Amino acid sequence: MRLGLVIDLDVCVGCHACAVACKQWNTSGTTAPLTDYQPYGAEPSGVWFNRIRHYEVGEYPNSKTINFPMSCMHCEDAACVTVCPTGASYKRAEDGIVLVDQDKCMGCNLCSWACPYGARELDRESGTMKKCTLCIDRIYDQNLPIEDRQPVCVMVCPAHARMFGDLDDPDSAVSLTVREREGYQLMPELGYKPTNQYLPPRKAKPIPTENMGKPGFKERLKSLANKIVKR
Ligand code: SF4
Ligand code: SF4
Ligand code: SF4
Repeated sequence: MRLGLVIDLDVCVGCHACAVACKQWNTSGTTAPLTDYQPYGAEPSGVWFNRIRHYEVGEYPNSKTINFPMSCMHCEDAACVTVCPTGASYKRAEDGIVLVDQDKCMGCNLCSWACPYGARELDRESGTMKKCTLCIDRIYDQNLPIEDRQPVCVMVCPAHARMFGDLDDPDSAVSLTVREREGYQLMPELGYKPTNQYLPPRKAKPIPTENMGKPGFKERLKSLANKIVKR
């Protein structure tokens, strides 16, 4: 079994709900709190397991904003595990989840330098490294209803941009979706074989610009927008 996330870049609206829910769950759940530094100050920061990057792709007016959520990819050949001198970083054989044993971690930062995905964050208060646990304390919790045994980031996403499942099973919903939508791993050339996959944005039709500025253009655009809203 190889559990992981599939993230649809076509529908992610960059709302950060997944990141906030992740922080909330992992602070109040069974893992240690995710530290905040100056939460009400001018430059708040802290430990987050999931961060959303925003990129502008293409040339205006045919440019597009791509919202790119990133958390630990639960790599098959995880560089963070290879370099860890204390054995605190490990990969579970039964489901492929990569974890950090907080009792063994000495906060040396080697794993965070080795991880090419920026998935690890040093908690300066505990002096240990932290990262996405794939919500291991939810997905195996027999006290939760079966439909709730999935990562909280997947559950809260209002755009249904996040899926969770077994990427080793060719018939799982995640594997089928990856095949259908030509999902891809991030930076496969590095050889760490990330489990998480991304579904590419669908190609948008270019906006015809030849009539821009001509009489009646604004009105036609407005009527088109109204039609789309009514639909
Ligand atoms: S909650 Fe969903 S739509 Fe919002 S940023 Fe996360 S993945 Fe994207
Ligand atoms: S994404 Fe980074 S922290 Fe996660 S398993 Fe891969 S190398 Fe390790
Ligand atoms: S799987 Fe859980 S720990 Fe990982 S990013 Fe999602 S909510 Fe956070």
